[in-house]
Amino acid sequence: MGIDLSRFRDEAVSSIPIKGKTEGEDLDIRGRKIKFLEPIKYNGEIYRVDGDRLLHLDIIYKYREACGRCLEPFVGEGETTLTAKLVEKIDNAIEKEEENEDTIYYIDEELDLQEYVMNTVILALPMKPLCNEDCKGLCPRCGTNYNRTKCDCVIEEIDPRFEKLKNFFPNE
Ligand SMILES: [Zn+2]
Ligand SMILES: [Zn+2]
Repeated sequence: MGIDLSRFRDEAVSSIPIKGKTEGEDLDIRGRKIKFLEPIKYNGEIYRVDGDRLLHLDIIYKYREACGRCLEPFVGEGETTLTAKLVEKIDNAIEKEEENEDTIYYIDEELDLQEYVMNTVILALPMKPLCNEDCKGLCPRCGTNYNRTKCDCVIEEIDPRFEKLKNFFPNE
């Protein structure tokens, strides 16, 4: 999905609209398996401000993964924004430390956003996947899903070994 930036050579052009979609790659992030259910959609523009070229992109995504508490799969949707300054990359001469989150590089007046869109979505995903904010999770003993039913397990709140330890240090 290369975007042709050479249109900016025409001084009359102040912005280039961008609209498209990209297939989300399935992710495996520290054991979390995330599958995108439809192409990731993006919509925005590159505009000229003084000598700079700035990008503003709204991104919409829909995915499926397993809840971190009850382990049931759920569908999540989200929106995020990618804003960055575009910088021309010449002969791979850019030092590592010059790279930062707010800069996107292009070569030969062609911009490829796929990787940047994907990284923006990864950063926007919730830290802990939950099917529902109120998910009750699983019984730690028998694995019953508390969202659906109850079980008869008695879960002791305090590990008895710690109870004994407490008696060794009565002043604490
Ligand atoms: Zn859940
Ligand atoms: Zn149980």
